[in-house]
Amino acid sequence: MSTETFEFQVEARQLLQMMIHSIYSNKDVFLRELVSNASDALDKLRLEALRDDALRADASDLHIEIETDKQARTLTVRDNGIGMSRDEVVQLIGTIANSGTAKFLQQLKEADNTAAAEGLIGQFGVGFYSSFMVADEVTLLTRRAGESQGTRWTSSGEGTYSIETVTDAPQGTSVTLRLKPEDTEDRLYDYTSPWKIKEIIKRYSDFITWPIKLAPQPAAEDASGDGTDDAPREPETLNSMKALWARPRDEVTDDEYHELYKHISHDWNDPLETIRLQAEGTFEYQALLFIPAHASQDLFLQGYKRGVQLYVKRVFIMDDCEELMPPYLRFVKGVVDAQDLSLNVSREILQQDRRIQLMHRRLAKKVLSTVKDMMSNNPERYATFWREFGRVVKEGLLSDFENREAILEVCSFATTHDADKPTTLREYVERMKDGQEHIFYLAGESRQAIENSPHMEAFRAKGIEVLLLTDPVDEVWVDSVPDYDGKQLRSVAKGEVDLGTEDEKKEAETEREKHQKEYAGLLTWMKDQLSENVKDVRLSSRLTVSPACIVSDTHDVTPALENIYRAMGQ
Ligand code: ADP
Ligand code: MG
Repeated sequence: MSTETFEFQVEARQLLQMMIHSIYSNKDVFLRELVSNASDALDKLRLEALRDDALRADASDLHIEIETDKQARTLTVRDNGIGMSRDEVVQLIGTIANSGTAKFLQQLKEADNTAAAEGLIGQFGVGFYSSFMVADEVTLLTRRAGESQGTRWTSSGEGTYSIETVTDAPQGTSVTLRLKPEDTEDRLYDYTSPWKIKEIIKRYSDFITWPIKLAPQPAAEDASGDGTDDAPREPETLNSMKALWARPRDEVTDDEYHELYKHISHDWNDPLETIRLQAEGTFEYQALLFIPAHASQDLFLQGYKRGVQLYVKRVFIMDDCEELMPPYLRFVKGVVDAQDLSLNVSREILQQDRRIQLMHRRLAKKVLSTVKDMMSNNPERYATFWREFGRVVKEGLLSDFENREAILEVCSFATTHDADKPTTLREYVERMKDGQEHIFYLAGESRQAIENSPHMEAFRAKGIEVLLLTDPVDEVWVDSVPDYDGKQLRSVAKGEVDLGTEDEKKEAETEREKHQKEYAGLLTWMKDQLSENVKDVRLSSRLTVSPACIVSDTHDVTPALENIYRAMGQ
């Protein structure tokens, strides 16, 4: 068969260059990535075989096998899972679909030290390409279940890869790495050593639900050769395959939880928070959820995949199970394992199942209460959480009325009270002045734009705290949330704002009436001149420095909201 040579997509090439020059210090993780891919491929095959009787696939004895060869200096990770068609190989291995890649690469270029670069790689994860941290050549042999021809892909990671069609490939995928010579000589990085392999699998992949077997080493040519050496001749299973969520809390280490998180999320960093939930009773399930430490680049893009997997009695059923988590918590990753669902459960069934709806509610509440605990027990971690996910969580104020209070409790906002530290609504209310009835805010494009707004003047002069809302979603939710703790949320840019005590108000009123008379002529003239553009012209007590400002009626849409509506074509 003829061999064809292809070029890697530009982004893929740049990533590969980084892998070849190993900017990531913990090289061992390449094996975790290959095993993770093999495990996914086995999950997919099992499901496809279950759903499609016509699929001529072998779904018996599904497992992952690792084989090392010291003489040849190779390491192979093999699975008998779903495999890839030729087109899939080109698509999945030759290009990078992640839409955040370009941005990521740009940031990486700007990263000023290796630690920063490593942090970025960690956030992004590079999956299959991480093989090139330890290999100078990688060969992938694959055949998609149900197809007759296989594909061999080979590359040294330097710009091009070659592809040929093969007729005798077994079902599934095997990835063979020709290890870099300098590594095999260093005991620390000798990936042909069974001990090294065992250690890595134990550390990173113990919970994988498929057996990971280590093939016996091929007999060395210079061995005594009389058959008496007692090295094991049977493949040895390296992982315990125990579902972490089903094991008692005190038997599982944080590191073990974190590795499961990395497998599910394809993130290389530890999660920010681990959440466990065991529901007993008529509908029994276990959940192990994670809040990532970083928002992924595509969180706001259409087609973002939610990260909660559904298992039924330890068997993987589906990825990205949106029935389990509301959209405003779409960054949560993890596993939910239900005892009493059918293995054939479909999306349609899940959507109608009342027990799933209850589970969904309970999980959402659990995530929110965890964030609330984080706020009091670990303010720094909460600050990270809010910086990364606050914008998403606030969407819930528009969609989840049942949890509105709980969501408001975990929100925080920039404030005029302290330029460096955001405030919660609770703290704001505690600081409210005598006679202040409302929670005041101003929404705008940036903190600076808001602070420079003439609307702020009177509030600044009176020392009244104003929340500074700069996320696009803020404009929308503030209009739909009637109050917090009985206090209305009021924009300082809308209508009349009354500041001060009753006495002060009365005084201001008489003052204004006096001025009103004094300036009546001017006001009428101005109204005439501006009648095309404004509804009214009146005297204001809200300005201290600026001569004039434009306000909207209490029930009018604000200029920023007008922009949003315009953008939506309304
Ligand atoms: P990710 O796993 O995050 O998608 P990878 O770089 O690890 O990224 O893998 C890219 C894609 O290649 C996978 O999504 C999968 O579709 C395909 N792939 C990789 N390894 C295998 C395998 N062993 N069997 C089948 N498909 C695979
Ligand atoms: Mg992967």
